[in-house]
Order: sequence, then structure tokens, then C-alpha cells
Amino acid sequence: MSGRDKERSHRRKPAQHSTVFLPGQPVLESGIYEVIHDKGHRQAHEAVMYRDDLFPVCDQCDLKVRFKLIRSAPYIFDDEDFAKE
Ligand SMILES: [Zn+2]
Repeated sequence: MSGRDKERSHRRKPAQHSTVFLPGQPVLESGIYEVIHDKGHRQAHEAVMYRDDLFPVCDQCDLKVRFKLIRSAPYIFDDEDFAKE
């Protein structure tokens, strides 16, 4: 996966992975998200979010925090071969 190609294609179409999520929205896909804070009180960082959770507010910038899906990674127990039931 080349970073340059990714940048070029992400201009043309609103690809799914460039969607920005807001606090309070449900997480549709488990995976690694970039967490972007308001006014740079903290550098953007990565975090794992699980499907069906809600994106949280930040203690510092509250509702102004944003989340971007970097890479979806299904939770192992959501996988049919590993489901607990
Ligand atoms: Zn923040």
C-alpha cells in the first residue's frame, strides 16, 4: 500500500476511510481510528474503537474531537469462526 496513491485517490471520491466521525455517533466498524483534537491541545493519535460503541467526547476539547477510520480490523469475537456462541 503506497501512501502516495492513497492521497491521490482520496481527493477524487469521498472514500469510506476518509469519513470523519463525531462524538456521539455509533462506531460502524471496529478498527484503528485516528483521533484528532481541537486546537492541537494534543497531537493526533491512534486508538482502537469497537463496533456499536459510541465515539466519545474528549475531556479537553469536548465535542470538537474528530475520528477518522485508518484501518478496519474486526474484533476477533465478531468473526464467525471465533464467535463465542
Ligand atoms: Zn481533545
